[in-house]
Amino acid sequence: MEKEQRIAWEARCIQEEPPACSTTCPLHVDIRQFMREMADGNMEEAYKVLCKNLPFPGIFGRICNHPCETKCRRGEVGEALGIGSLERFCVEFHGVPDRVKLLPRKSKTVAVVGGDVAGLVAAHDLRKKGYGVTLLETASQLGATFRKFSEDLLPDATLEDELAVLKNMRVEILLGAVLDDAAFENLCGEFDAVFIDRTCPTCASLPLDNDASGLIAVDPVTGGTSRPEVFAGGQGGDVPIMLAAAGRKGALSIERFLQQAHMTIGRENDGPYESRLYTNLEGIAPLDRVRPADVDAGYTADEAMREAARCIQCECLECVKVCQYLAHYKKYPKKYIRQFFNNEKVLLGASHSSNQTINSCTHCGLCAAVCPNDLHMGEVCLEGRYAMLQGDYMPPSAHEFALQDMAFSTSDEFVLSRHQPGTRQSAYLYFPSCQLSATAPGEVLQSYRVLCEKLSGGVGILLGCCGAPAFWSGRDPLFRETLDTIRKQWQAMGQPKVITACCTCQSVFKEHLPEISSTLLWQVLENNALIDKALREEVAGHAVAVLDPCSTRHDPQAQSGVRRILGDLGFTVEELPLSGAMAECCGYGGLVFNANPQLDNAIVTRRAEYSERDYLAYCAMCRDKFVNVGKRTAHLIELLFPSVDGNDPWARGWISWYERRKNRQRVKDELLADLGETVERAMEPYDKIVLHIDPELLRTIDSRRILESDLRQVVHHAEKTGKRLRHNQNGQFRANLKLGNTTFWVDYAPDGEGYRVHNAYCHRMNVTGVK
Ligand code: SF4
Ligand code: SF4
Ligand code: SF4
Repeated sequence: MEKEQRIAWEARCIQEEPPACSTTCPLHVDIRQFMREMADGNMEEAYKVLCKNLPFPGIFGRICNHPCETKCRRGEVGEALGIGSLERFCVEFHGVPDRVKLLPRKSKTVAVVGGDVAGLVAAHDLRKKGYGVTLLETASQLGATFRKFSEDLLPDATLEDELAVLKNMRVEILLGAVLDDAAFENLCGEFDAVFIDRTCPTCASLPLDNDASGLIAVDPVTGGTSRPEVFAGGQGGDVPIMLAAAGRKGALSIERFLQQAHMTIGRENDGPYESRLYTNLEGIAPLDRVRPADVDAGYTADEAMREAARCIQCECLECVKVCQYLAHYKKYPKKYIRQFFNNEKVLLGASHSSNQTINSCTHCGLCAAVCPNDLHMGEVCLEGRYAMLQGDYMPPSAHEFALQDMAFSTSDEFVLSRHQPGTRQSAYLYFPSCQLSATAPGEVLQSYRVLCEKLSGGVGILLGCCGAPAFWSGRDPLFRETLDTIRKQWQAMGQPKVITACCTCQSVFKEHLPEISSTLLWQVLENNALIDKALREEVAGHAVAVLDPCSTRHDPQAQSGVRRILGDLGFTVEELPLSGAMAECCGYGGLVFNANPQLDNAIVTRRAEYSERDYLAYCAMCRDKFVNVGKRTAHLIELLFPSVDGNDPWARGWISWYERRKNRQRVKDELLADLGETVERAMEPYDKIVLHIDPELLRTIDSRRILESDLRQVVHHAEKTGKRLRHNQNGQFRANLKLGNTTFWVDYAPDGEGYRVHNAYCHRMNVTGVK
């Protein structure tokens, strides 16, 4: 996989971007975390959060003009958090400052000239990083700017306590220092780097280039001056927190300079900047600020906690809120992308859980629909699947069954292309899909006959699979091959207009076979006035909830067309929470039903609980998946065409995988019969085996992706070879047989003319090195 692509994906997920309060804070205090701790009453933890980014917290916590509040998102729904007041409460609550932890002493030393805000912060930051720091101040006291604040706001005792921290950090402080050219040259020779606080009254006359306003000229990004080892910052008139940011910038530049690192890369986030974090404020109730009962005394602990609890804890997670897959694995895309691609072992399937993660996304695209940066995790997961396949690390259990089902649908068992009986050309080509033929064979046949009768110019038939399972499983060559076959069949039929009856097929045609003009069956019926109530007299219209398939996300016409048809048929439509452009997947997409049945079940079950109403699907897999979890669900085709099988569309129940194959064969056989042709299906010796299976056991066996034909092969082989174990107590036989990568086990006993199956299970795996 291309590294650039991975980096681009990662960059699009902005969940880890700091919120607006922090990016507006010139020193980037983690205000969100601070609020979390305060709201929980963890005042000391909150103080530690302040200390991480705020030097002299007792000073800035009291005097900062809190520009962060101007961008607080809470301000858009109520009032901005009282960040300044809460910081003040926190530092007052804490009292005398803690000692600052220093990194191990480094050999390099730095001189800081000027002991006002910028110089103090630069000295603090550099010393904290382990550099030896000497601070020179021409006046007799440090912190001239701080001393301008009233005793009420910043008591002298507090100021002295906070400044004493520098001494504890072993910063060498020289007050009343003389600063002339000679002294400056000495500093430059003696120290590895120099920082100059530009508010220092004498520094403008030092032998350095000055700007138009007479201050030492500095590079706006780095604070560099005309001498490489000298940096400067701070400007009279700036508020203290901005002077502090200038000191921090100088300290960062000096560190890079001393480490010979790049001076400008990644500096765009020095000082205040616009946050890239997206936070959806929908549904957040407006709340006004908690005001202290005693304004002069400020917040009590309880008031502070209540005020901090108003913080929204800004974050994005738009995709995680709607996608059960992302929520299930408790991560957001940026983390997944790093996990998938930064750790080769993960990508190469070293553990079951990691490759299951890659295989558990439905590729539904809902994440991209809600993401402010359109990040489509389905594409990321698909790339992961390609990489796993290329490295031969994809376990057969992930997709094998679905691919075998696809192989059946692209084999002679189902594939058919013919002109309409009695014609030699096709203006249209009906592609009802393998899944709808499996779900509703009678209705597929009936719909084809109606199309033939009502449309002129000939309606050909094309039975096959669009290749979606190959696409979802990362089998690109197989997918391309399947598309090529369809293209050739379409060309051989004279390039007719294709009518699809499956939304997934339709999206595959649109995206991957753009040269083929295709329309959904429902639109053709509507456009040609073929919606006839009489078609389905026995189905009384009532209120139904429509299940939009995720494959129609970008096809609003299809979605509205289905609703119009339902209206014509006398149904009223209830909209489900996630529908239309926000449609969820039923779990068939991405073959998740195969790779992660538990998650698949959770996805369908949640959607089934959205409404008490009957569901109306227009995707065969949606219909079958919801019926499987006990939800009354019918397919649109069942309403439109009288079922030749006479079933109530809402009561037809589940269909086994084996039955689905039989249904496909039936569609082909009946179409050929209409053409006066017959199909010779080879009978295998095991086909004659009669099995008795209790309905409940049949469902269990089906959920294990075992077909009745698999059971017959195992029993036939066991009976023929005698390779079976007999259970002494119950007399049952246990036999096994490996078919492809799968070993099937069956417990059975003779029963009349046939055999009764008592249990069956299978293992899909490739054990390398074992023959
Ligand atoms: S929606 Fe999801 S992927 Fe997009 S930025 Fe937000 S957390 Fe990241
Ligand atoms: S609501 Fe909280 S996290 Fe969001 S900007 Fe305001 S203080 Fe920061
Ligand atoms: S494609 Fe669908 S299942 Fe996959 S992460 Fe996005 S929303 Fe979730």
